[in-house]
Amino acid sequence: MTRIAFIGLGNMGGGMAANQAKAQHHVMAFDLSAAAVDKAVAAGCHAAASVAEAVADAEVVITMLPAGPHVRAVYGEQVLAHAPRSALLIDCSTIDVESARAVAQQAKAAGFRFADAPVSGGIMAAEAGTLAFMVGCEAADFPAVEAALAPMSRVTIHAGEAGAGQAAKICNNMLLGVSMLGTCEAFALAEKLGLAADRFFEIASKSSGQCWSVSTYCPVPGVGPSTPADHGYEGGFATAMMLKDLKLAQDAAAKAGASTPMGAQAEALYALFDANGFGGKDFSAIIELMRGRLGELR
Ligand code: NAD
Repeated sequence: MTRIAFIGLGNMGGGMAANQAKAQHHVMAFDLSAAAVDKAVAAGCHAAASVAEAVADAEVVITMLPAGPHVRAVYGEQVLAHAPRSALLIDCSTIDVESARAVAQQAKAAGFRFADAPVSGGIMAAEAGTLAFMVGCEAADFPAVEAALAPMSRVTIHAGEAGAGQAAKICNNMLLGVSMLGTCEAFALAEKLGLAADRFFEIASKSSGQCWSVSTYCPVPGVGPSTPADHGYEGGFATAMMLKDLKLAQDAAAKAGASTPMGAQAEALYALFDANGFGGKDFSAIIELMRGRLGELR
């Protein structure tokens, strides 16, 4: 049994903390939302009244927070001041690379081991304990990080030093955003050319256009494996989340001096889709923008 402090019990963190409790670990759970803490307690965790109380006796601290400023504040103002130096600190939030590196540096200077470990997989994977983790940390610390994440993970991959997990996450999601837009455009054109969607699916998924957005997450209802397209584009990976990750990628590209014209275009298109009120729809719903049929989504 490991003493774990879990901070941030939202859509993702709630299921993740529950899986740590299910694995018989002692989980001290804290969130600004009392309802989120109550839910974690019902799932076997113990309520903490503050970050300080949650981390006071922790062997592992796990955070799952909205964005960079939350992570900087929770570590800078609370975790580093109150956790034992021996505690392994793991931030699983998706945040900017700069914040991840800054927090890692601060933690190291204070004598802690720290990892950024963002996840791939949504709320269902968080609940099922089948998330994929991409980890930025010192190589010597990786086995301990992997073991600590095991009850929540399907696979855990060491990406490199501090910040590398976040770098991997935003590069992967930029690629996903771009490939989904290409997939939507191709299906919309196929339709205009009178090609049946199921025929194009079968051909593209066996040809050089094959990619995850075509074969596994097809944006056309009734085609290929079951996806959010088959459920009115509800559930899945929200457009607002994709937009957040594309913005992180563009910020990182600007700071690193990288040229990412396709990523920039993807950000612009998802911002447009979001601004039209579709931030809550699955990101594959953007096919309706390409088809000129946004009205059908409302
Ligand atoms: P969420 O908004 O549901 O949960 C965040 C939680 O953090 C909230 O319950 C909030 O009250 C809590 N919080 C904020 N500030 C806090 C503080 N100072 N102290 C304690 N608790 C605090 O968000 P989520 O969907 O769980 O996402 C969390 C992270 O995971 C984000 O960075 C997101 O980008 C990433 N992510 C989400 C998904 C997804 O499908 N939802 C998938 C992959 C990655």
